[in-house]
Amino acid sequence: MNDQDIENNLRTVQAAVVQAAKDAARDPEAVTLVAVSKTKPTETIHKALLAGHRTFGENRVQEAREKWTALKAEFPEARLHLIGPLQTNKIKDALGLFDAIQTVDRPKLATKLADAMAATGHRPDCFIQINTGEEPQKAGVLPADADAFIRACVDDYALPIRGLMCIPPVDEEPALHFALLREIARRNGLSGLSMGMSDDFEVAIRFGATHVRVGSAIFGSR
Ligand SMILES: *Cc1c(COP(=O)(O)O)cnc(C)c1O
Repeated sequence: MNDQDIENNLRTVQAAVVQAAKDAARDPEAVTLVAVSKTKPTETIHKALLAGHRTFGENRVQEAREKWTALKAEFPEARLHLIGPLQTNKIKDALGLFDAIQTVDRPKLATKLADAMAATGHRPDCFIQINTGEEPQKAGVLPADADAFIRACVDDYALPIRGLMCIPPVDEEPALHFALLREIARRNGLSGLSMGMSDDFEVAIRFGATHVRVGSAIFGSR
């Protein structure tokens, strides 16, 4: 993709985010567009930064560090979200690099995150990933375990939990999953909802998404 394509795609997606928020009688400012730059080279991400975009998502700690050390030096105000699974041996690296961790999904990770936050003083915003489709191969807390795990993260581990995140099953109506995530967040007093990708971010905004994670609609197919 050339510079113009990325800039045009960004403008198109940003405009669609604003329109979807307005259609839902929501404040467009309340929806953050996370541009998912996983697998894309530094030059490509650089184009989005030059076009003025500042919030990005990556799914691997190692890849993010390799690409973003230089990018963050040039654009210190860029914000990076981890949207892929976090292994406990990568926690220290992740805390140094990411401004938000969207994939808190198990007690062992929560404990170790709490310890590492205390040790480093870095406290990125955290989202708890919910496996709304109860898919065996997918990460995330099962809906039935969500309330207890959220309480433990907030009360026992004192993590800065801002909200919930989900990735609906590919072959199901995403709206059902967005509604379920919204309900779990509501009853637990959480305001952040990270849901919606290239194909369904407008639906997600209608269901209250505060963060949409859009990759291919901005950067092209992977
Ligand atoms: C890759 C990815 C996205 C972006 O998907 P697109 O369909 O390319 O928009 C969003 N969320 C997560 C967790 C991802 O891994």
